[in-house]
Amino acid sequence: MKSQVTFLRRKLSPYVHVAAAVILVFLLIFAGIRFRSWYSLGENRRQLTLVNAWNPVSETGYTPKLVSVEGGFQADRSCADALTRMLSDCRAAGNKPQLVSAYRSLDEQLVLYDGEVQRRIDEGKSPELAELAVRREIAKPGRSEHELGLAFDIVDADHPEEDASQAETPTGRWLAENAWRYGFIQRYPENTEGITGYSWHPWHYRYVGEDAAGNIASLNITLEEYINLFYGDEAAVVYEDAG
Ligand SMILES: [Zn+2]
Repeated sequence: MKSQVTFLRRKLSPYVHVAAAVILVFLLIFAGIRFRSWYSLGENRRQLTLVNAWNPVSETGYTPKLVSVEGGFQADRSCADALTRMLSDCRAAGNKPQLVSAYRSLDEQLVLYDGEVQRRIDEGKSPELAELAVRREIAKPGRSEHELGLAFDIVDADHPEEDASQAETPTGRWLAENAWRYGFIQRYPENTEGITGYSWHPWHYRYVGEDAAGNIASLNITLEEYINLFYGDEAAVVYEDAG
């Protein structure tokens, strides 16, 4: 009896090993696929982190992973290469893009915001009116996308004005046409203040990844609308109605 079992075991053992190896390989492939989709979903969610006047950075659970980019600026590492490629292709097309702002810490945002309010007070506005005017232009500290390391202000070096005229510069036109190919969107388009909370910022670009940027560009919608459309309830987007 014993020798029969040993014989059987010997006879089966090569097959058992082969079967075990095959099962193991399948399990590894399966786990790999699961991990990849879980990871890319996580990355997608990260890139689509919504920050606006009604969704502060502190409630997103987002922490930037900073790396250096040109001009002594810092960006989240998920988009640093895409930003570099976009700026270099923009230059290769004969334009002069200049990065003037990238990642800003909460403190830097605070200094910027308070400085702009003070500048308007110095010009003769009341503190209330000064703050109201600044709020349309600059995010309150803790509510700026720049704190994510995913937003960039890019102007034309020959015309560095941060106003609507930036859209008419060669750089502004090239970016409006091509940024989506690199995963960037113009975050505050014309006539969307009721949704985004900000006036038209043709110099402010936000990284959302190539898929989302392509969809947003072809549908001609804002990030708020895109998240509502594709992620619905899960994303819990809050924004005030226009009007
Ligand atoms: Zn900006």
